[in-house]
Amino acid sequence: MILIDGKKAAAELRAELKEEVAELKSKHNKVPGLTVILIGDLTPSQIYVRNKEKSANEVGLKSEVIKYPDSVEEKTVLEKIQELNSDETVSGILVQLPLPKHIDKQKVIEAIDPSKDVDGFHPMNVGNLSSGYESSIPCTPLGCYLLIKKIEPNLSGKKAVVVGRSNLNGKPMTQLLLKENCTVTITHSKTKDLKAECLEADIIVAAVGIPELVRGDWIKKDAIVIDVGINKTDNGIVGDVHFDEVSKNAKALTPVPGGVGPMTIACLLKNTIDCFKRSQI
Ligand code: NAD
Repeated sequence: MILIDGKKAAAELRAELKEEVAELKSKHNKVPGLTVILIGDLTPSQIYVRNKEKSANEVGLKSEVIKYPDSVEEKTVLEKIQELNSDETVSGILVQLPLPKHIDKQKVIEAIDPSKDVDGFHPMNVGNLSSGYESSIPCTPLGCYLLIKKIEPNLSGKKAVVVGRSNLNGKPMTQLLLKENCTVTITHSKTKDLKAECLEADIIVAAVGIPELVRGDWIKKDAIVIDVGINKTDNGIVGDVHFDEVSKNAKALTPVPGGVGPMTIACLLKNTIDCFKRSQI
C-alpha cells in the first residue's frame, strides 16, 4: 500500500511556489500578498492562521493578519474587505471561518472581490468551477485532487465516490473529479447504503467528520482513498477512514494527520499566487 505523504507533497509544492514567487518578483518587482482576517479568539482558528502566515512567509509572499475581537461589528469587517479589495498590494483575502453568530457568513464571503477570493467560496468562483471555467478552487479539495493525481495521473473513466456534500469539501471535490472525466457519485447523510456505494469506487474521498466511518470491507481492492476528516477522539486525532483496516485493501491512502491537512495550506499559497498572476494579465 502506498502511504500518501501529504507533508512531503506539501513541502515539494511550497518549494515550487517559492521559486515561482522569486520569478514573479524579478518580473514584476512585487510579490503576491495574502491578507487574513481573524475574528475572535477561537484556538483552532488562531493556530490555522498562524500556520498560514508562517507558510506564506516561507515562500516569500507578503502576508498580513488583521485581528478583530469577537464583538466586532459586521459593518467594520465589510468595510475592511472593501478597503482590501481596492488595495493593489493585496492579491488574496481570506476571512477565517467560523465567524461569530452576529456576522452573516455569506455576506462576508460575497463582499470579497472574486478575483481575490483565495478560499474559492464566492458564488462566482463556485459557479465558474462547476462550469469548468478558470476559478479559485477551495484549498482542501484542491489539495486532495493534487494528491490523487500524484498516484494516478489519468483519472478518465474512473469511478469516484465522494462522501459528504459540504460546500467546503464534497461539492468542489466532485467538480474537480468530474473535470477529470471520472464518473462521480456524491454521497451524504441520507445515502441509503454507503458501503455499497464505496465498494464500487476506484477513488474515495471521505469528508464527513465522523471518526473512522469508512471501514476496511467498504473498499474495493486497489482503490485510492483520501481521508479529509480531522476528528478529536479520546485516542487522539483520527480521520473519517479506519486507517488500519482500509490500509489492508487500498492501493493508496492518506494518513491523518500528515495527509490532506498540510496540502490545504500549501494550496492556499498556490491560490494567492494564481490570483496575483491573473491580476497581472
Ligand atoms: P460538514 O459537517 O460541513 O459536512 C459533512 C458532510 O458529511 C455533510 O454533507 C453530511 O451530509 C455528510 N454526512 C454526515 N453523516 C454522514 C454519514 N453517516 N454518511 C455519509 N455522509 C454523511 O463537514 P466538512 O466541513 O466538509 O468537514 C468534514 C471533515 O473534514 C471534518 O472532520 C473536518 O474537520 C475535516 N476538514 C479537514 C480539512 C483539512 O484540511 N484536512 C479541512 C476542512 C475540513
